[in-house]
Amino acid sequence: MTQTPASGSPSGSQGRKAIVIGAGFGGLALAIRLQSAGISTTVLEARDKPGGRAYYWQKDGFTFDAGPTVITDPNCLSELWRLTGHDMAQDVTLEPVSPFYRLNWSDGTNFDYSNDEASLRQEIAKLDAGDLAGYERFLDYSAAVYREGYEKLGHVAFLDFASMIKAAPALAQHQAWRSVHSMVSSYVKNEKLLQALSFHTLLVGGNPMTTSAIYALIHKLEKDGGVWFARGGTNRLVAAMVAQFERIGGTLRLGDPVEKIETIGDKATAVITKSGWRGEADAVASNADLMHSYRDLLGAHPRGIRQADKLSRKRWSPSLFVLHFGIKGTWPGIPHHMILFGPRYEGLLTDIYQHGLLSADFSLYLHHPTVTDPSMAPEGCSTFYALAPVPHMGKLPIDWEAEGPRYAERILDEIERRLIPDIRSRIVTQFHYAPPDFASDLAAHMGSAFSLEPLLTQSAWFRAHNRDDVIPNLYLVGAGTHPGAGIPGVVGSAKATARLMMEDLG
Ligand SMILES: Cc1cc2nc3c(=O)[nH]c(=O)nc-3n(C[C@H](O)[C@H](O)[C@H](O)COP(=O)(O)OP(=O)(O)OC[C@H]3O[C@@H](n4cnc5c(N)ncnc54)[C@H](O)[C@@H]3O)c2cc1C
Repeated sequence: MTQTPASGSPSGSQGRKAIVIGAGFGGLALAIRLQSAGISTTVLEARDKPGGRAYYWQKDGFTFDAGPTVITDPNCLSELWRLTGHDMAQDVTLEPVSPFYRLNWSDGTNFDYSNDEASLRQEIAKLDAGDLAGYERFLDYSAAVYREGYEKLGHVAFLDFASMIKAAPALAQHQAWRSVHSMVSSYVKNEKLLQALSFHTLLVGGNPMTTSAIYALIHKLEKDGGVWFARGGTNRLVAAMVAQFERIGGTLRLGDPVEKIETIGDKATAVITKSGWRGEADAVASNADLMHSYRDLLGAHPRGIRQADKLSRKRWSPSLFVLHFGIKGTWPGIPHHMILFGPRYEGLLTDIYQHGLLSADFSLYLHHPTVTDPSMAPEGCSTFYALAPVPHMGKLPIDWEAEGPRYAERILDEIERRLIPDIRSRIVTQFHYAPPDFASDLAAHMGSAFSLEPLLTQSAWFRAHNRDDVIPNLYLVGAGTHPGAGIPGVVGSAKATARLMMEDLG
């Protein structure tokens, strides 16, 4: 199929060159948009595989996705193919996941969370029928903030304070200064339902107790768009994006980290990689960690030093501890996504976000892809990961080499107690990913898993701008920019950044 520039893209951008640093979801989505518009685009990735947080490993016949597993709003992804008249389905198959999540508490209560109206109401009634009416009102609230915060503002750049002022009436109307937890608790009273309707901010690095109520939109996002799984794992979705990018003429260079963004005056002119490769471009966009981009890549320019100093005073989202294990046996009774809540909710979150403590208790997200796609493990075996939010290395500077194996054992104890009694005798392969791994593999500041914390005071105009304020042909894309972390977030940021770049290069 021949490549056609995206409709409405300025034809003047033809013949222009762009470089994107980093092949995360945001970097790849931006690169596809630029290349679709006729801008000759090269993506430079430090690691041996693309995907960033969505890296993957194959060990002993098991496939382990490193990061995102809950795919929402598939439309924001398929749009990247439609730009050039292609179909995402030719490169990857998305399958619906149901229930979306099973939420489980240590007293044995289960809550199956889905977008099937009747069964969701049944689940709510099981917890407390008195909360059904409140849930309906919460759903209306979630739908309203979804329209405002995601549909209208989720993929536009906030470059000046005026854009923030324009959004202010909507933010005020939806009481954006309140937290998701506070807002949900104004609608429902049951403690477990409160947790079920507020935990989602953790998926984008936010504490439900402090993240703006606007993030309640995730409920509506999942309800309308569903929860999906890429057959073969999220890594297949990444591979599909690369296939689309290369099909339309883009270039991806792997295993060669960018070391410097060169500037002349206040203009970015080229980038240099570790191997000595040098590429000139009309525009440079960084999908790498914000602090790394400014402090390390732009460190020779006063702007880099000033921004790094500012960023060091921001609040960064926590890190994660992820235990991957491949085991003998299959578990049709364990759904694809489970949340195993611990005995404390608010107290645990305060320990992670404020006190920087590795608490004795934890809440886990359990990923079980082989229940949907058995091909991700050898026959008769299962692939899992268990993830626990932990403080970032700035708040908890411990020796993870020593703590990691102990923490892994505690997680296995919990899974043994709650789900798989003989788990230890079944383990074929096991490894973990801890905060220092985020720092070393992804250049993530303090090992943060989701970049800047999604607080109202660090959102929209208050977040890193999609175009740098001083160097007008330097752009940012990904979790550190508006609207923030999560696949729909970073793909939305790519749309905002691409629009700016196309206008500027046109
Ligand atoms: C364990 C985990 C589970 C998650 N689960 C979900 C989920 O279920 N659903 C969801 O929607 N979101 C989830 N998220 C969040 C989501 O994965 C991220 O917000 C998103 O993938 C980040 O994308 P990004 O574009 O910001 O880039 P990143 O993934 O951060 O990629 C940045 C890339 O830049 C590269 N890079 C860095 N420095 C350089 C350099 N100097 N030169 C070249 N390249 C460089 C890195 O190697 C990396 O590949 C999860 C995150 C984690 C960590």
